[in-house]
Amino acid sequence: MFETVLKCTKCGKEYSLASGIYKCEKCGAPLDVQYDYDSIRDLIEDNDSWFREPPRVWKYWMFYPVSNLRKIVSLNEGGTRLYRMKNLEKKLGFGKLYVKNEGENPTGAFKDRGSSVEITKALEFHAKKVVVASTGNMAASVSAYGSKAGLEVTIVVPEGTPIGKLVQAVVYGAKIKIHGSTYDESLAESERMAREEGYYLTGNYHYRVEGQKSTGFEIFDQLRFDSPDWIVVPIGAGTHLRAIWKAAKEFYELGLIEKLPKIAGAQIEGYDAIVRAWKERKPITPIKEKKPTVASAIAVKAPVDGENVIKAIDESEGYLGAVTNEETMEAGMMLGKEGLFVEPSSATALALAKTMREEGIIDKDESVVIVATGHGLKDIKTWESFIKL
Ligand SMILES: *Cc1c(COP(=O)(O)O)cnc(C)c1O
Ligand SMILES: [Zn+2]
Repeated sequence: MFETVLKCTKCGKEYSLASGIYKCEKCGAPLDVQYDYDSIRDLIEDNDSWFREPPRVWKYWMFYPVSNLRKIVSLNEGGTRLYRMKNLEKKLGFGKLYVKNEGENPTGAFKDRGSSVEITKALEFHAKKVVVASTGNMAASVSAYGSKAGLEVTIVVPEGTPIGKLVQAVVYGAKIKIHGSTYDESLAESERMAREEGYYLTGNYHYRVEGQKSTGFEIFDQLRFDSPDWIVVPIGAGTHLRAIWKAAKEFYELGLIEKLPKIAGAQIEGYDAIVRAWKERKPITPIKEKKPTVASAIAVKAPVDGENVIKAIDESEGYLGAVTNEETMEAGMMLGKEGLFVEPSSATALALAKTMREEGIIDKDESVVIVATGHGLKDIKTWESFIKL
């Protein structure tokens, strides 16, 4: 309702929201939705009841580019709990430690926040069928929301994808198309199907960013419109981290929080292209070889929002680091002792925060929010091989 234009995150070129493009036509970089923030401010400034509403994705509807609130596609995503981890904070020496438990979302991961907005947009663009290239949580989430909206959903995956990873998407009603030998080839195929065969393209594009901002909105809201010192997020494509930083800047711009958090991003060893580029101050070079990993949800070779992650880290004076498979599983076990069972990819955030505390990057008095992106039941195989029953 308050959206104005699409703007390229790299070259700044602007496009109309009606154009239906999914990346910059000039430079190929991701796009970003722009808003008229003065109107949003007028709407919420003196609205006491808005502040009292419980946090959930659609509480923040004025920050999304949707035109009719009666036509949103929702499975009651968001509103996930923010847990204070008193035992762990004492053990690891943090001022305060919280975990945002995204495994509580309808399909078990934060992706549902983005899918709700993205599939709502697909209906606005009169889509009949949607396509997404993914082997994991994105596929499951788009399938659930697409089917709920009455759309046909096709998941494009490379040859040799273990079918076990697609079970959830198939149960939600998706069709599987096998194409190419790598994820990149599947992605290119999904984009071709969108251009040539009338599919609506879903994935890590600008409308998903908007819905995924809600992880950030909810964190600030749950801390009574205050900001923690740090928010630590696992990075795959980088789209979620980019969205959380955008949320922080929007709330700050509207005066809803008084200070900005520092953002930290965790990558897994072997898939650390962004960390390396950031440390060496060089452009991001995609990972070439496939390496064994416990964190399949973030084992991304060519992260589409890598440059936007680096921008967010620099703007927030934050930090990027890679953690090992071993550190990740151990961090997951620590969360288990606090009553939380998370997907290994999610545990990378705690593993990184622990290292940052040990190295003094996080100070002993500082407050930290860990974003636990997905439920442990999402990747039982990896947990099984770690605990060796
Ligand atoms: C998708 C996903 C991530 C990574 O998010 P990006 O937006 O790709 O950076 C992290 N953890 C889990 C569980 C995921 O499903
Ligand atoms: Zn551009």
